[in-house]
Amino acid sequence: MNIAIAGYGVEGRANYEYWNAQIGHVITIADEHPVDAPEGVQTIIGADAFANLNGFDLVIRSAGVAPYKITTDGKVWSATNEFFEKCPAPIIGVTGSKGKGTTASLITAILRASGKKVWLVGNIGLPSLEVLEEIKSEDIVVYELSSFQLWDAERSPQVAVVLYIEPEHLDVHTDLEDYIGAKAKIAQNQTTTDRTVYNAQNQWATEIAGQSVGRRLPYPSERGAHVRGDYFYYGDQELCHVENLLLPGVHNQDNACAAITAVWSWVQNGATIAEGLRSFNGLPHRLKFVREVGGVSYYDDSIATTPGSAIAAITALAGPKIMILGGSYKGADFTELAQKVATGDVKRVLLIGDEASRIAESLKTAGYAAYEILSAMPFADVIAHAHDTASAGDTVILSPACASFGQFKNYIDRGEQFIAAVTAITE
Ligand code: ADP
Repeated sequence: MNIAIAGYGVEGRANYEYWNAQIGHVITIADEHPVDAPEGVQTIIGADAFANLNGFDLVIRSAGVAPYKITTDGKVWSATNEFFEKCPAPIIGVTGSKGKGTTASLITAILRASGKKVWLVGNIGLPSLEVLEEIKSEDIVVYELSSFQLWDAERSPQVAVVLYIEPEHLDVHTDLEDYIGAKAKIAQNQTTTDRTVYNAQNQWATEIAGQSVGRRLPYPSERGAHVRGDYFYYGDQELCHVENLLLPGVHNQDNACAAITAVWSWVQNGATIAEGLRSFNGLPHRLKFVREVGGVSYYDDSIATTPGSAIAAITALAGPKIMILGGSYKGADFTELAQKVATGDVKRVLLIGDEASRIAESLKTAGYAAYEILSAMPFADVIAHAHDTASAGDTVILSPACASFGQFKNYIDRGEQFIAAVTAITE
């Protein structure tokens, strides 16, 4: 076949390796930016690289390339589609605006505690096509799926997990309908024997679940997974104490309920679930305790790139808080976050990045005045300033509710700079 690899980043490379390993294909690499293509491989480079891909039998879209950018008379395909079609094992797909990585990890941890061989693929796991050949039918795959991966998915996983959803990525998706429509692909093509686990408190997750013809399993739910007193339950079956979950906040208890529901057809034993939950200590830059200095605690939640995740951080941590908010534009609406700041235990807000003034506007509207715009201040100085402002017993949280681009390479860089600055504080 004559194949075009559309997008040559980390995923594009894995796509190239996968199709190049099969005999008989002629492969061309297309990308908007110059790439380091393997020797002898044809390339199409430039701003309109995807605009004329006529003549190819197959165009392999990387998740980062929006479908509407591609024009071709051939078939548009993706790693997700190829994996869904060829994978011999059941797939638990996990999507949502926030909580995918955490929930996919919790699902993996519980299944592994039960003795299952589990493949965690997608964003926080391995590139799916890289491991496809090794997967056996008795294994289980846990696939973290973003809206970009699901956009043109032609199949749905046997178990779809639809977490908390909020408007996001509106810089790439044409509108909210397009974003929700992409996410809905996780449930749309299920069969009657499949299952959709969904956040019953979230309107969009509930809507998406409604598009599945399979069994719909809400969480938290009295009849399914929920927290009663200090215990996780499934229906009337007590499973284990909530302290087995090492992650803070009600939002993480919700994620655990999603995970318990997703694995329920394989694992119904409280002790195994407890062991699985206990074995997972959280992912870096997700509401992670960094250090206490002078009685002030510091938390790195750099991956909190949406208002909803910053709200979750404010709810999760008790006591007076100093929040560092702001970053680059992603189309977010800060109204609800501002209301949470105004009514939560937030002593002070330090605003950084391009979004500082938009967040300030929302805070003002919510009647909150204890903010400072520090966009021009070097990031390390902002942290030092936070420490000067804080008193013993306070918690300083970097949970910016915005993307990191411009000022930082990515959220990891932002989190690492935060940790470095916090480590440098002297009493
Ligand atoms: P994702 O993989 O979807 O980006 P993560 O599990 O990596 O999600 O968590 C990213 C951020 O979202 C963290 O700040 C985390 O505290 C927050 N978060 C996780 N689960 C939820 C939830 N259910 N609701 C709101 N925020 C959440």
